[in-house]
Parts: sequence; C-alpha cells; structure tokens
Amino acid sequence: MSTTDLPRLDAAALRADFPILDQSIGGERLVYLDSAATSQKPREVVDAEVAFLTRANSAVHRGAHTLAAEATELFEDARTAVAGFVGAEPENLVWTSGATMSLNLVAYAIGNATAGRGAPASARFALEPGDEIVVTEIEHHANLIPWQELAARTGAVLRHIPVHDDGTLDMDAAAALIGERTRIVAVTHVSNVLGIVNPVADLVALARAVGALTVLDACQSAPHLPLDLPALGVDLAAFSGHKMMGPYGVGALYGRTNVLDALPAFLTGGSMVTTVTLDESEFLPAPQKFEAGTQPVSQAVALAAAARYLDRLGMAAVHAHEREIGRRMMSGLRGIPGVRLLGDADGAERIGVASFEVEGVHAHDVGQFLDARGIAVRVGHHCAKPLHARFGLTASVRASASVFTTEDDIDALIDGVSAVRAYFG
Ligand code: PLP
Repeated sequence: MSTTDLPRLDAAALRADFPILDQSIGGERLVYLDSAATSQKPREVVDAEVAFLTRANSAVHRGAHTLAAEATELFEDARTAVAGFVGAEPENLVWTSGATMSLNLVAYAIGNATAGRGAPASARFALEPGDEIVVTEIEHHANLIPWQELAARTGAVLRHIPVHDDGTLDMDAAAALIGERTRIVAVTHVSNVLGIVNPVADLVALARAVGALTVLDACQSAPHLPLDLPALGVDLAAFSGHKMMGPYGVGALYGRTNVLDALPAFLTGGSMVTTVTLDESEFLPAPQKFEAGTQPVSQAVALAAAARYLDRLGMAAVHAHEREIGRRMMSGLRGIPGVRLLGDADGAERIGVASFEVEGVHAHDVGQFLDARGIAVRVGHHCAKPLHARFGLTASVRASASVFTTEDDIDALIDGVSAVRAYFG
C-alpha cells in the first residue's frame, strides 16, 4: 500500500481521546508538543489501569484464589499484546521499569557473563580487555552511560559512530569501525533529538558480519512507526511504556530466544527461581529469569491497552500522519530567520520531531515564551549532551508530535517561534 492509500488519521477528532488535552494553559488552548519526552494517555489506557486496580488487583503467578488467577491472566495477556505490537512472541518480552532499566539490564548481565556468572552458555557474552562496544554519537544517555560503565568494569573499549552535519549517521565510518574486536553494537533506532530514522538493518548487517551482539534503543520508534523487531534482526531491544501512551514505571526488553537463554540474570530474588536452597538457586527460563521481584502489573495491563489503541489506529497511518506533521514543522521552522534546525537532512526518513535553536535566545527563554501561548515544548539537552556538543550547543528547543497533533498546532508553534526574536530583541 502506498502512503497515499493509507487511512488518514483525524488528528483533531483524536484529541477527544486524550482527557488531558481538554484544558487551557493560562487561558490558551493546550498545544502539547512534548510527546518525545512523555506521551499523553488515551482515556482507555487510564481506564484499563483503573479497572485492573479496582476489579482484579492481586499478586500474579502465586495464590490459588480467583483474583490471583484473573490478575495473572491479564498480566500474561498484556505480555502477549505488547510483544505482538513489536512483532514478537510473549516469551521474547521481559517486563522492566522502562528503557533505561532494559538497557542497564543488558549491560549488567553482560558484566555478569564477563565475571563468569551464569556459565556455561553465557560465556559467549564475556568481554575481554580490548574488546569493543560500538555506539553512536547521537545516543540518549540511557544507551550510552551503561556501556561506558560496562567498558570501565571490563576493560572493553567504547567507540562511537559519528554523525554528519545533516544528522544522518556516517555509515562509512560505521563500516570502518565495526570490525573483528567489536562485540556489541548498541544504537538508537530514532534519535530523540533529530527524529531521523537510522539505517538499523544496515547496522545489524555490519554487526552480524563480525558476530557482534546488536542492542536497539527503540524508545522513539515503537510509538511512532510500524516495528517488527524479529524482522529487523536485532538481538535485543528496549522501549518504554510512558513514551507509547502507556503508564510510567513499565517498559520492556525484547530479546531473541537464544540470546535471552544465554544471557545471565541481572537482578535476583523472588519470582525468578525454580529451586532455592540456602546455598544455591536455579532460575526459571526467560523471560521470568529477568523478572525478579514484584512486577509493574497494573502498568503492564495499561500498556497493553496503549498497544491496542495504537494498533487500532494502525502504525502505518500513525507514522504517515506524524511524518507529514513533522515535514510541516521542519519547513515552517526552516523559514524563520535566526532559527537553526539540528539535523536538517534532506529527504531523511523521520518521525515528527524537530530540534532547533533560535539565534541569540536561550532555549529556556524560548520554552517559556511558547508556554505563555499554551505551547508545551521541551528545552535543554534532552539527555543527549554529546550530540548537542557535536552541534556546538548546550541546549536546544524540541517540538515533538503525536497522533493528535494538528496542522493548527504546528501553525501555532511556527507563529510563536517567529515572534521570539522580536520579543527578546
Ligand atoms: N532512549 C531514548 C531515545 C529516549 O528518548 C529515552 C527517553 O527520553 C530513553 C532512552 C530513556 O527512557 P526512560 O527514561 O523511559 O527509561
């Protein structure tokens, strides 16, 4: 189906699904352009969590009573729904508290393998001094610092794929960097600052050719484009519930079966064991092996409602809408004197995210000025300090769209940004 055949989203009508949008900010209509930081929740997601807490709340995977069985069923159905949303099977989806936790889980589990924990299968993940971990210059801190720390713990070396001035990755440099010593390639699918979709399949091919493990940060792709993680070929992938219309405190780690089987546990404790004696314990298979302690059950159930909501809209239609909105945003911003866009690659595949600076005006001032018009944007380094340093900045303004973002919202943003320099002189 070509994108012109896709059913179009009626963004203005979808606003009614999001109770939070039904308010004014300082007397102005709320224009929420901060979905990349955290998404707003449709009523049915809130309702799903409330329904769980008021009708089924109980401890899962234990207890013989009716409510416990019902809660367990809802929890495991949620796993199936969220796994299905990214093209995966439920046994390939581990619940976590969010993407940051998912990525740390992987880095710490690899650290355990390096320390000889979880042998023998885990030996394939053990790092030796001089082994290389490859990330990109555009990573969110959540997909950078865990690898810095793992490198420091193991003697591995961290290397970075650079970004061109236009925001696209330097794939020639990637091909040169990913080599014999590369053991892990950890990259973001979509930059939370640039909004550009990276060529993940090409990076996976480079990593596979040298037998390296691939880890994908899918935080900004899962909510915005059709995602089939098994088809993409990555070994592991992380995403966050609150970025995809679900609640805070829940996220997921996807892993290929053989990878999850061989990866040692990170956190240990209740719920992830088969037998325990005072001296030793045996662990359940994945995904439970990685789910020590009480899980975010009501949040997982609500996240499944979010996945169903997005599925109903159709992720191809979501992507098409947000891409169009993104184009309008980029072209409007590009036309404002004194505005510099970060990563203005011509024709790059994108989601609806644009980051920019207004010459001579601090990003925080721009944010406050827009807020006075009811427009919510993010200002700062967006947890991507190295990327900002690469563009010679400490902060930028970021506008990010969702399914309910209308052309009027973008026009309000463009009007607002156009007035900034005149106001600040
Ligand atoms: N990766 C990317 C690309 C992100 O945008 C974010 C959140 O801003 C994260 C990782 C971290 O997600 P969380 O804080 O929900 O764990």
